[in-house]
Amino acid sequence: MQGVGFRPTVYLLAQKHALTGWVLNSAHGVEIEVSGSPAACAAFVQDLQLNPPPLAHIDSFEVQPSEPQVYPAFVIRESQDKAGDFLPVSPDLAICPDCRRELFDPADRRYRYPFINCTNCGPRFTIVQSIPYDRPNTSMAGFALCPDCATEYHDPANRRFHAQPISCPVCGPQVWFEAGGQKLSEREEALQTARGWLAEGKILAVKGLGGFHLVCDAANAAVVQTLRERKHRTGKPFALMAFDLATIEKYVTLSPAARRLISAPQSPIILAEMTEAGKKLAQIVAPDQTRLGFMLPYTPLHLLLLEPAPGYPEVLVMTSGNLSEEPIAYDNAEARERLASLADGFLMHDRPIYMRIDDSVVTMLREKPYLVRRARGFAPQQLRLPWEAMPLLATGTELKNSFCLTRERYAFVSHYIGDLENQETLSAFEQAIPHYEHVFRIQPKALACDLHPDYLATRYAQARSQAESLPLIAVQHHHAHIASCIAENGWASHEPVIGLAYDGTGYGTDGTIWGGEILIAGYKGFTRRFHLAPVPLPGGDLAVRKPARMALSYLLAAGIDLEDQTLPPVAYLTPAETQSVRHQAHTGFNAPLTSSVGRLFDAVAALIGLCEEISYEAQAAMMLESATDPQGGGFYEMPLENDVINPLPMIRAIVADLKAGVSAGSIAARFHNSLVRMSVEACRQIRQETELRTVAISGGVWQNMRLMNLILPALEAEGFTPLFHNQLTPNDGCVSLGQAAVALARLQG
Ligand code: ZN
Ligand code: ZN
Ligand code: FE
Repeated sequence: MQGVGFRPTVYLLAQKHALTGWVLNSAHGVEIEVSGSPAACAAFVQDLQLNPPPLAHIDSFEVQPSEPQVYPAFVIRESQDKAGDFLPVSPDLAICPDCRRELFDPADRRYRYPFINCTNCGPRFTIVQSIPYDRPNTSMAGFALCPDCATEYHDPANRRFHAQPISCPVCGPQVWFEAGGQKLSEREEALQTARGWLAEGKILAVKGLGGFHLVCDAANAAVVQTLRERKHRTGKPFALMAFDLATIEKYVTLSPAARRLISAPQSPIILAEMTEAGKKLAQIVAPDQTRLGFMLPYTPLHLLLLEPAPGYPEVLVMTSGNLSEEPIAYDNAEARERLASLADGFLMHDRPIYMRIDDSVVTMLREKPYLVRRARGFAPQQLRLPWEAMPLLATGTELKNSFCLTRERYAFVSHYIGDLENQETLSAFEQAIPHYEHVFRIQPKALACDLHPDYLATRYAQARSQAESLPLIAVQHHHAHIASCIAENGWASHEPVIGLAYDGTGYGTDGTIWGGEILIAGYKGFTRRFHLAPVPLPGGDLAVRKPARMALSYLLAAGIDLEDQTLPPVAYLTPAETQSVRHQAHTGFNAPLTSSVGRLFDAVAALIGLCEEISYEAQAAMMLESATDPQGGGFYEMPLENDVINPLPMIRAIVADLKAGVSAGSIAARFHNSLVRMSVEACRQIRQETELRTVAISGGVWQNMRLMNLILPALEAEGFTPLFHNQLTPNDGCVSLGQAAVALARLQG
């Protein structure tokens, strides 16, 4: 068993059944020994199984008889720290209902104290420097407990028994407000200054749990525009926070499961469909989207910042405190420097953050969370592996990096690190790896990385492999995607599955850029049964930023005239740029071949005039998904020719539809339907050849919810069993686990 609040619950149950003995946390979960009459022991076990603590997560529950022992009482033993064992570290937890009530209770001694917490809530991973998770090993070490807090801390019946970050206004961290290098106010007054500045339309940097947020009034178009300019972030949607569910539900529609998840201890940003009021707000904070990302205040400080008042902003933009694509700022001095040009003022506090971590982003799939960014609240929750693993480090990918460490039956997949192409993010990656290794006591005996020789994560693995003489296994990107999906789903055997790996970019074994791969894959290896026909990527990265170029590449491949100015991408590009695309495509100069489905999405979005140029990653694909007519039927032909998926008949049909005046919404719907229809047909063909009927779904393209909601029932109707991610993201955040799984299979047999 693992989880928060286990020991106090066990203590109270032992009291209830008049048992003696002990309870402790160890690497293997919670260990309990109780002594008493057989009937009382049995009643205790039953009670514990029926009423585990609310945040507990029970992997397995074992009961064994032991030699009779005499204990004077029932005690909670200190965390037992056996050399070499690991102790689980909890993710950070959103403020619990009890603490929230006390925060707003004038009679409580922690009334309006921004750092109130208890055993059931508060910071965890972000403040842990070492294990065991005891106060001296956290960033609370510098705050000595006052007598009142000490009494609570040592009382097994108290909700704050052994709550490591426990504090109060007398002994704990405090907030202050500063601007222009001057401290303007402290404590409650600082909160009021911050609220005043936000109401006046200023941008603040607010120190939270895992780092700084940039905060402003979401309904104030002028200040949001200023924030975009300062942050160099033109179109990308901003995350929002509102005081309570009732306020959030004015702007978005939440299913019962979404409502539960947004209020859960993980407290993620949830992407949800907008209401009419939401659409108005979106014009400011999330142009061209059909969904808004909302979260609830997950710390007491956030609650105090969002507390409703007449004339006060109801919704705040809460975006990571960074320049576009850099990692989130987390240290006071660092924030003053890095955020000075972004924020008008700073709401600071003096509880240090050891591990910076972004907010998690989720959407709902079949009433369960489907992750877009796995960070605060989810990491570093370990995943249970279907087999025993040697200590290994997999370094992940270049974009949306996570890394993965394994030991025993567990994989520790890191939180979202970011895009390593940037120096700041690379140092965050280089700092986080030794921290995870230290906290979970993993000394890697082998390494795994991507096949791409120039990825910085690959170079890190190569350098370490040389320095420490460790074996290094390079794993193809889409093989890793599929291995990750099956490992996460507990796939224990070396039997292969059918893998639908649809993605933006991944280095192929032939040196071209893959991303539309239908694999027959197990942990040890794979065959590339079908792939999207490769087309040139004219201008390389430039074609990724300008989907119009990608559309031209497909038009050329389909033999369609590039002089036709009625085609939106032709009209968009200058004649000179069109000429250069034509040249690159014909000569192959600066035009690597790609079979990426992500690029096919780009091309179609540009072809129908939705998006010729992007300002953030996956924008064209998101706009194509958003534009889709929900009622749209029909499909285009995507024939399977030997091992190639031919998209050109579809490109010609889309051009014909466009000329016939068919709406963008209908074309987008047909495009989604076609991909699903082709995928199911490919699976059927593989089943005829191999009798395989399990289909693993992974890759960034599968963040498209329309595609997911179509493919799952379509596969099931044909008798296939689809496997998809639910603990990791389908995007590149999952790849490190897959690299680890493949490397372990090869090394361990
Ligand atoms: Zn609490
Ligand atoms: Zn205190
Ligand atoms: Fe990928």
